[in-house]
Amino acid sequence: MSSEPGHLRPPSPSRITLYTLGGTIASTDDDASGARPRLEGAELLGPVAATVRDVEVEVVSVRQVASVELTLADALYLAQRIRGDLGDGQDGVVITQGTDTIEEFAFALELLVDTESPIVVTGAMRHPGALGADGPANLAASIGAASDQVLRGAGVVVVMNDEIHAARFVRKSNSANVAAFTSPSTGAIGRITEGRVRLYVRPPRLDRVIDPARVAGNVAPVLLFSCALGDDGRVLDRVADLGYAGVVLEGFGGGHVPARMVAPLAKVAATMPVVLASRTGSGDVLASTYGYDGSERDLLGRGLISAGFLDGRKARILLSLLLGMGASREDVAVAFARLHRSATGLR
Ligand code: ASP
Repeated sequence: MSSEPGHLRPPSPSRITLYTLGGTIASTDDDASGARPRLEGAELLGPVAATVRDVEVEVVSVRQVASVELTLADALYLAQRIRGDLGDGQDGVVITQGTDTIEEFAFALELLVDTESPIVVTGAMRHPGALGADGPANLAASIGAASDQVLRGAGVVVVMNDEIHAARFVRKSNSANVAAFTSPSTGAIGRITEGRVRLYVRPPRLDRVIDPARVAGNVAPVLLFSCALGDDGRVLDRVADLGYAGVVLEGFGGGHVPARMVAPLAKVAATMPVVLASRTGSGDVLASTYGYDGSERDLLGRGLISAGFLDGRKARILLSLLLGMGASREDVAVAFARLHRSATGLR
């Protein structure tokens, strides 16, 4: 990236670390047996290296896997490496990974790395051998974004298709299109145009509710259960036997379940934290609107904890990390409320 007047860059060259974890951006299908992640970091950087000027990119190949193989243990490991890099004077970080789990992995990094420095996660919808492969453009845009200090303090972002999405809101909303990423609650917070970051909305800084040093390596298993028409939620009777330490329930609409699920849910909530999210995927869980059996007021009154603005998948990441820290039900409730207030300004 050449520096131009007006760019908020540190004294050049800026220094970026690129971590690669596989996914479609790193996949090849040379023998037509189906694309698999094979490429290492240097091979990903190669095609865009000529466009990256005034940025020193240190490449670290971490894994070559489909992103369904990633776990919170990977996020904990990477977060520790990133904290070390930024402490050693790197200006920003880019992570490439499969797009299937980017919305969860990026949010886990947001919770685990307390920094002002830009952290950008990206991937590709079309592998490098496909027509119109989007990986090189996404990577070049992400390196530019990570070295542009206008993103300082904006939290972890996902850059895809020249859009900048906040990790806390982004979702993969299409299975195959290059414009697969949306932030249904807010929209993209910025764009990359002519190779430069335009940041339209600066997300509020999230309260630090996770202390990575206290998260045990094997984070607690949390069930994500999504309500569906006519389902009686019988799996809830088994969650303790199955070894789960917590549940995130994606209720209907503003956070509702059928009346027949209330007693089983209350029973689970008496033994482990149960977090109430909305299966709609955007907007806050309600708190004071409906009063029928199974309504949000009923469930919150029976000890369920509001996910606030977080969708079920992101709430599950937060709950897993909190339980990994040994948090009690009360600690979990306080942490979700703090995060929600810091993100929304709600008092
Ligand atoms: N299956 C791929 C993955 O998530 C999809 C992608 O990278 O776009 O690893």
